[in-house]
Amino acid sequence: MVDDGLWIGSSVTLSDLMDKMRSLIKSQPAHEVSACTALLNQLKYFAGNQIRNTASVGGNIVTGSPISDSCPLYMACGATFVLEEEGKPQRSVLAEDFFLGYRSALLHCTGLLVCAFSKS
Ligand SMILES: Cc1cc2nc3c(=O)[nH]c(=O)nc-3n(C[C@H](O)[C@H](O)[C@H](O)COP(=O)(O)OP(=O)(O)OC[C@H]3O[C@@H](n4cnc5c(N)ncnc54)[C@H](O)[C@@H]3O)c2cc1C
Repeated sequence: MVDDGLWIGSSVTLSDLMDKMRSLIKSQPAHEVSACTALLNQLKYFAGNQIRNTASVGGNIVTGSPISDSCPLYMACGATFVLEEEGKPQRSVLAEDFFLGYRSALLHCTGLLVCAFSKS
């Protein structure tokens, strides 16, 4: 947790993310973690434990699948993705601006680093 939201490393598995969301929902005021509640509820329907134990947050986002369970949530929650590309300064983009089309995303070279949820 940071002052204005939550930072999630791109290599975090979906299972670890769900564990973290569960503990945040228990410990934080409901209005501050409503995005966590929505994401946790959605991820329950994401494949099964075997897939969730290996699939990473970044891998799922960069895949840009049109049937992704999580990407619409990141957009709806106003999440920000932090991008790092060779030879360019690190930059942040809203999730809704990251997806350009079918399996196409705003990432040309290396690394989606983290995504962040704002408390608001
Ligand atoms: C049996 C099965 C069931 C599934 N069910 C669902 C489902 O119910 N809902 C759903 O939404 N999806 C589902 N999927 C899709 C699956 O969840 C995604 O393929 C998975 O999330 C990809 O994550 P990964 O960490 O394995 O990514 P990888 O396969 O390792 O990576 C995917 C792509 O992203 C790139 N990449 C990975 N991390 C980064 C990073 N940090 N920065 C830049 N690029 C990166 C990789 O180079 C690669 O091109 C299912 C898949 C399987 C096999």
